[in-house]
Amino acid sequence: MGWTYDPTNIFARILRGEIPNRTVMETPHTLVFHDIRPLAPVHVLVIPKGAYVSLDHFAAEGSEEEIVDFHRTIAKTCAILGLSGEDGFRAISNTGDHGHQEVPHYHLHILGGRPIGRMIE
Ligand code: C5P
Repeated sequence: MGWTYDPTNIFARILRGEIPNRTVMETPHTLVFHDIRPLAPVHVLVIPKGAYVSLDHFAAEGSEEEIVDFHRTIAKTCAILGLSGEDGFRAISNTGDHGHQEVPHYHLHILGGRPIGRMIE
């Protein structure tokens, strides 16, 4: 597959420290920060530090170390933010034009703290 990464995208700029963010946690491979336009009481974005455009790009070409770290970081984030109990949460990855992806660096939205409903826009 031909994924082309744009290093000027806003999350690449956050990773380079050019734009501030409200960090929840960070590992050598993964960053978690609060979404600037939260759609729920808890709304964070989990992003790999590597140059991956989308979920399918990361799943295809991310190293096993990166992929494991990403998912362990999700678990830690849910524990930190109190999402790991029975109430649960929603995780979403908007991908490409049909998925209405605005920022072309893979990110997983984690939303919680209230019932999210059947779908979100
Ligand atoms: O549609 P997509 O999943 O690409 O949405 C990008 C998300 O990144 C939006 O929820 C937006 O609020 C968030 N964002 C952010 N910080 C920025 C720019 C965008 O949290 N500096």
